[in-house]
Amino acid sequence: MAAPRDVIVIGAGPAGSATAARLHRLGVRDVLVLERAQLPRDKPCGGGLTGRCRAALDALGLQLAVPAIAAQRVLIRFGAYERSVDLPRPVDVVRRLDFDASLVAQVRSLGIPVATGARVVRLAVAQEAVTLHLASGDELRARVVIGADGAGSIVRKHLRGATRAVPLRLFMQELAAPARREDLLFDFTPMLAGVRGYAWAFPVAGGRVNVGVLHSPPAPRTSPQLLGALRVTLAREGIELPARGVQGWLAWGFEPRAPVAAPRLLTVGDAAGIDALTGEGIAVALEHAQIAATAAARALADGDFRFAGYRAALARAPVGRELALDRWLAAQVYAAGAGWQRWLRRLLFDRDFAELYAARIAGTGSLAAAWRALARAYLRDRLDSSARRLRFAQACAGFGVEVGKRGFAP
Ligand SMILES: Cc1cc2nc3c(=O)[nH]c(=O)nc-3n(C[C@H](O)[C@H](O)[C@H](O)COP(=O)(O)OP(=O)(O)OC[C@H]3O[C@@H](n4cnc5c(N)ncnc54)[C@H](O)[C@@H]3O)c2cc1C
Repeated sequence: MAAPRDVIVIGAGPAGSATAARLHRLGVRDVLVLERAQLPRDKPCGGGLTGRCRAALDALGLQLAVPAIAAQRVLIRFGAYERSVDLPRPVDVVRRLDFDASLVAQVRSLGIPVATGARVVRLAVAQEAVTLHLASGDELRARVVIGADGAGSIVRKHLRGATRAVPLRLFMQELAAPARREDLLFDFTPMLAGVRGYAWAFPVAGGRVNVGVLHSPPAPRTSPQLLGALRVTLAREGIELPARGVQGWLAWGFEPRAPVAAPRLLTVGDAAGIDALTGEGIAVALEHAQIAATAAARALADGDFRFAGYRAALARAPVGRELALDRWLAAQVYAAGAGWQRWLRRLLFDRDFAELYAARIAGTGSLAAAWRALARAYLRDRLDSSARRLRFAQACAGFGVEVGKRGFAP
């Protein structure tokens, strides 16, 4: 039997490409990337590369080498309420078909093989190596396997067994823009229709617009309900959502306590979980990949393949701290009961919070590092709650809901 490879990365999305590139930088040369699709392949996505992406790409030695629209402003909307926030650094909006293909080309140019049409259907972990069974019938072995295989990850399933979890649901479509759009619209109005999330409209190169909706698990909603809420939201922008062509996808919100590794196995990117508040996962994948590659390189050097400290390393890193904080915020803002109204009010009406979040999106700051400002924003809301309740009710006026003292429950 042939000797196992050092590392096999499953998946050639941003997480897989970034992990392979980082392993190369760390001097690990015996790496193979397996991708089930033929490349280039598309991926339903808003394509928003937050400010942290640039820094993460630099750290990985990768370039942003595809057309991108640099959005300088965020427009936050809820019913009649709107706030425009300048971003300290722009967010680049790309098309995933181009972006992912460009990352793969850069990985290949380092001499790292990327095998396409190579779908892993089963894995078996033994003392010395992991055996991967491919749909073609081939078997491959590696000392470390990194699951960068997205939301449907086979490695994630192996780690979690029969654990029950409910995913985030997202829908997106790229359309012709009725008017030039320069900002990133985050519209929380669909929450008045029972959605637990937001609708977006991002400018895309070529005078187009990327639109979509994110819905968080606690409140069950059917696809027609989610698309109906998106349609109404977009109509305000003069954008007509066609009856067909909207792509739906699932994602797992990051859970700080859930398993992300086991002996000889690591997960990264969507396979490990994405930002539960915003659904952002590209910067997360690029930053997370650096931690995964470091863990794999260390295991190959010292022969300890248990990966016992991987989850803690992720939790300590800026990306892990942000994911944990956003998970907590998502649990408040997207709660099934009426409590979401209090939290949405806190997030919407506080200038400090809006600026902190803008800094976070731009990659110039992090929420976890600004906990004092967050605490101040929270206290201000407690002191000012009746005025903010009134603003909330005013924002909802004309949107088909009556907001009483205790809010309302759609
Ligand atoms: C509608 C929508 C909008 C989004 N908008 C944004 C946004 O604006 N900004 C942002 O930062 N994030 C956004 N995200 C999240 C972002 O798309 C993901 O976080 C990102 O794609 C994660 O990259 P990844 O490499 O982990 O997974 P993926 O990009 O899903 O790549 C996984 C790869 O693994 C391959 N694969 C899977 N299974 C196997 C197998 N068994 N064998 C071999 N190969 C396999 C797949 O073919 C795929 O190429 C959005 C997500 C959705 C669904």
